[in-house]
Amino acid sequence: MTLNNIDPGAFHWLVDMLESVEVGLVVLDLDFRVHTWNGFMENHSGITATQIQGKSLFDVFPDIPEAWLKRKVDAVALLNTRAFISWEQRPYLFKFRNTRPITGIEEYMFQSLTITPLTAPTGDVDKVCLMVYDVTDIATSRRALERANEQLEKLSMTDRLTGLLNRGTWENLVDAEYERFRRYGHLTSLVMFDIDHFKPINDTLGHLAGDEVIRHTARVTKDAIRQSDKAGRYGGEEFGIILPETDAEGARVICERIRETIEQSLVDTSNGEVRYTISMGVAQLNDAPENYMQWLQRADEALYAAKEAGRNRVVIA
Ligand code: GH3
Ligand code: MG
Ligand code: MG
Repeated sequence: MTLNNIDPGAFHWLVDMLESVEVGLVVLDLDFRVHTWNGFMENHSGITATQIQGKSLFDVFPDIPEAWLKRKVDAVALLNTRAFISWEQRPYLFKFRNTRPITGIEEYMFQSLTITPLTAPTGDVDKVCLMVYDVTDIATSRRALERANEQLEKLSMTDRLTGLLNRGTWENLVDAEYERFRRYGHLTSLVMFDIDHFKPINDTLGHLAGDEVIRHTARVTKDAIRQSDKAGRYGGEEFGIILPETDAEGARVICERIRETIEQSLVDTSNGEVRYTISMGVAQLNDAPENYMQWLQRADEALYAAKEAGRNRVVIA
């Protein structure tokens, strides 16, 4: 649209349109004095055009990040190009209440912003136009999507910290393996293990260093087992492994490999180096117990016995 040879009658309805359009329009000079303030801005701020005309934007809105906006406007004026600032960079410039009835869960209006240079008859940029778009609906649905994704992650099969199977998934596999044994009588063994004296690691080096140790344990475990073996994170620093087609002696060999590798590792955490050990319990399925939980319990009792016997060892049920 050019305004060069505009019909004077059209000028009125053009101004009417700018007044009523559902976009905020603000014209500022390069000292940030307000020249234009349309209906959208009046309605959402409660400040009329007459009240704000000629005043510095920063005096009326002390919350506006002054240095940031000045940098943006200076670049627009200097380069004579428009700038776009998405709500994802900065949720809003003007702190307006969210008035959308449907998306009432967000307290403030999310805004995207365009800053356009306006040139004087001399050709110099002497003003800028801010266009303020209400994008609360988009922001709200995006946030809802993010929340849904977080929930899906919780429902997913793997544990976030280690990438091992999470407890629920792993327990289902224990149950399935138990049923397979009942039907076909294949050899199969279960391992439960737990980091020794983990609490002092957390207490002295911090939770993040503790997490590093948990991740290292998972990595060593993954490297030591076959594709058909299934490792899971059972609790904080407790792990389980299903070893199909493996008797107790075979399980002991695998467990010793994991136990020794960990004993010999020096884990380099952000708060210092850590040496640690693990204790392991093995339960081979022979006579079928009542259910898979009793199988788990036998492995857990063997683990407990390994702790009692002095830790850093493998005990077979
Ligand atoms: P023990 O040799 O008897 O196993 O001694 P321990 O100190 O390891 O005792 P326990 O197994 O009861 O310690 C569990 C500790 O693990 C307590 C808890 O604060 C910590 N923990 C649980 N989950 C996490 C986690 O995800 N990250 C970190 N850093 N620590 C965790
Ligand atoms: Mg422990
Ligand atoms: Mg424990």
